Amino acid sequence: MTPYDDELIKVAGLLGEEDATKIVTSLMKLKEATDEVIANDSGVRINIVRKVLYKLYDKALVSCTRVRDEKTGWFVFYWKLQPEQLDAFIRSRKRKSVDKLKARLEYEKLHSFFTCNKCSNIRLPFEEAIETVFKCPKCSEQLVECDNSKIIDELSKVIQKLEDELSD
Ligand SMILES: [Zn+2]
Repeated sequence: MTPYDDELIKVAGLLGEEDATKIVTSLMKLKEATDEVIANDSGVRINIVRKVLYKLYDKALVSCTRVRDEKTGWFVFYWKLQPEQLDAFIRSRKRKSVDKLKARLEYEKLHSFFTCNKCSNIRLPFEEAIETVFKCPKCSEQLVECDNSKIIDELSKVIQKLEDELSD
């Protein structure tokens, strides 16, 4: 498997369909095939195969050729991976991640946060903590201010890394 194949399988996984990776792997092997052939090869049900192919098509990660069947007169669709589109797809995903992370970073920088020493999943911004009079909404324990500089550092690092990759 090439690093490119690896990336493509990862991207297929991101589409949120469990079977997408199986379908992409089949398509890599078959090069160009109809949905039925892909379904047979991957063992994935044909309606799922179609759904995933449309998703990939929507992202321009596969192309589709329409051929009229001489015997039946019906159109048959042949699907093929579009490797050259993968980079653009990954870059656009990274750009979206950077935007989201920057918004999160701003939020962290502009707010102070309060946690409960007893409940691990309680973390309120000042504005919400003040509403509960700095008492934990779960156990009523006094909330304590928490230092979010580590989160800010981590977020900044991830953003920097993605921006470096995008500027390549
Ligand atoms: Zn608590």
